[in-house]
Amino acid sequence: LHRNAGEPEFHQAAREVLESLGRVVDRRPEYFEEALIERICEPERQIIFRIPWIDDANQVQINRGFRVQFNSALGPYKGGIRFHPSVNVGIIKFLGFEQTFKNALTGLPIGGGKGGSDFDPKGRSDREIMRFCQSFMIELHRHIGDKVDVPAGDIGVGAREVGYMFGMYKRLNNRFEAGVLTGKGLAYGGSRARREATGFGTAYFVRSMLARQGTDIEGRRCVVSGSGNVAIYAMEKIQAFGGKVVACSDSSGYVVDENGIDLDLIKEIKEVRRGRLSDYAEQRGSECRYVAGGSIWQVPCEIALPCATQNELSAEDARALISNGVIVVAEGANMPCTPDAVALFREANVLFAPGKAANAGGVATSALEMQQNASRDSWTFEKTEERLAVIMHNIHEACDQTAEEYGAPGDYVLGANIAGFVRVADAMRSLGVI
Ligand code: NDP
Repeated sequence: LHRNAGEPEFHQAAREVLESLGRVVDRRPEYFEEALIERICEPERQIIFRIPWIDDANQVQINRGFRVQFNSALGPYKGGIRFHPSVNVGIIKFLGFEQTFKNALTGLPIGGGKGGSDFDPKGRSDREIMRFCQSFMIELHRHIGDKVDVPAGDIGVGAREVGYMFGMYKRLNNRFEAGVLTGKGLAYGGSRARREATGFGTAYFVRSMLARQGTDIEGRRCVVSGSGNVAIYAMEKIQAFGGKVVACSDSSGYVVDENGIDLDLIKEIKEVRRGRLSDYAEQRGSECRYVAGGSIWQVPCEIALPCATQNELSAEDARALISNGVIVVAEGANMPCTPDAVALFREANVLFAPGKAANAGGVATSALEMQQNASRDSWTFEKTEERLAVIMHNIHEACDQTAEEYGAPGDYVLGANIAGFVRVADAMRSLGVI
């Protein structure tokens, strides 16, 4: 514990995976030899750096940058970059650890990594964002590459930020190395359906879980937290599958719209104007209720998709959801449910999909972007989405079958952790003690 002092989120993520491995010890003792567990919990490399930049008032600002290169047994490190004031080394480590198993679950040749900064993009001008991204890349560029480490977006980092980072990378290296970053704009090597992929993938996963129970999404009430990249496209696909999304949120509050969330309006406010959900409520008028602060999980629903941030759904929220009749909870975000909340869902037999399975569609489609870049190809939206749908189906089957095989049918947490672990562990064992 002292080696990772002050990193509660990393402890939380590691404990969850290690608890699931209890059932593997008896059957596969070879995985517990040669300090494999200790090695898998230790990042291969962590980089922490200074990011100086100049704001619009001509003041010098300093932020801290991070890149954790967690595990490259399956391929180049791969994972997003997060810009949020809550970022610290423990947050990036938990995300990199989760990413390693998530990437393994996709079946694609990608290792795990994650990065970011405590920079707060809120209220910053476009020029400030650009200068910050450029300064961030001036250091990061020496640590990444299409065969080394391939970052992407995450909270606070979308196509705009990836574009500024790619521009600086290209300038520093004097080469057009498209596969060094994913989540790029379509004009310079991005993949169709990458923007939609995480949210769409979560909805596909929910559909598979319900199909296993002989039912579907049609007509079901759904609540989605967040209103960023993952939340917007999860809502879009749930609506396409006939579900009714009645509420979503941002860090200031939530809206309840009993007529169903108007996604065009959300996209206009969030993606174009970069505004707040309170603007949505104002524009919708009396049909819509805005609650400042508070917990969105008080809103009754059958499908709950936490798509904002870690530990946003507490035990108290889980109790409210269960008593209001929730049947599925799928984590669009990384580790949004606290361990107590997860335990309550599992006890109550609520179908529960952990983030490393339910939100793997984003990174899977990033790997498809790398594939398109490597072959200088550009697939249609339909082809890319089809590949995504197949990958999500396969992840569902892998989790489901692994849970069954290890004596816990229907336990997607156990299934995802064991299936992801086995793939990484097999590769690490083949590579020797490195
Ligand atoms: P965005 O920045 O696009 O959106 C984040 C949303 O969550 C915003 O609505 C934001 O509200 C809200 N939010 C962020 N932090 C907090 C907080 N501390 N408290 C309350 N609300 C908060 O990020 P993404 O949609 O890309 O990411 C959301 C989650 O999904 C993260 O956990 C991320 O790691 C995970 N994820 C993302 C993937 C991707 O492809 N983008 C892939 C896999 C997982 P506000 O605007 O007010 O801050």
